[in-house]
Amino acid sequence: MHELSIMQSALDQVLEKARQAGASRVHAIRLRIGALSGVVPDALQFAFEALAAGTPAQGAQLLIEDVPARFWCAACSHEFEATRMFAECPDCHRPSAELRAGREMELTSLEVD
Ligand SMILES: [Zn+2]
Repeated sequence: MHELSIMQSALDQVLEKARQAGASRVHAIRLRIGALSGVVPDALQFAFEALAAGTPAQGAQLLIEDVPARFWCAACSHEFEATRMFAECPDCHRPSAELRAGREMELTSLEVD
């Protein structure tokens, strides 16, 4: 499962940051997930619960922020949102493959104590 390895690397970062902060518990973890990242949020939640068991992050709240995909149309110089990997500009109807956002998967913040 794709989400398991993604979650493992996110969790490694979380635990490392918690350790640096001298924290014993992680309360909440916020992640930004792009609409085209290929990550299924429910699967990520499931992976998190399995991987965090027995670590200071066990029982932490996983908050997922969805980032919509945004493409750039070079012909009309504007950015538009889409939900698919190949999108058509709403103005000139040319296809655009210039993805500006939507593939991210990053840790944005952490609450620990
Ligand atoms: Zn266009």
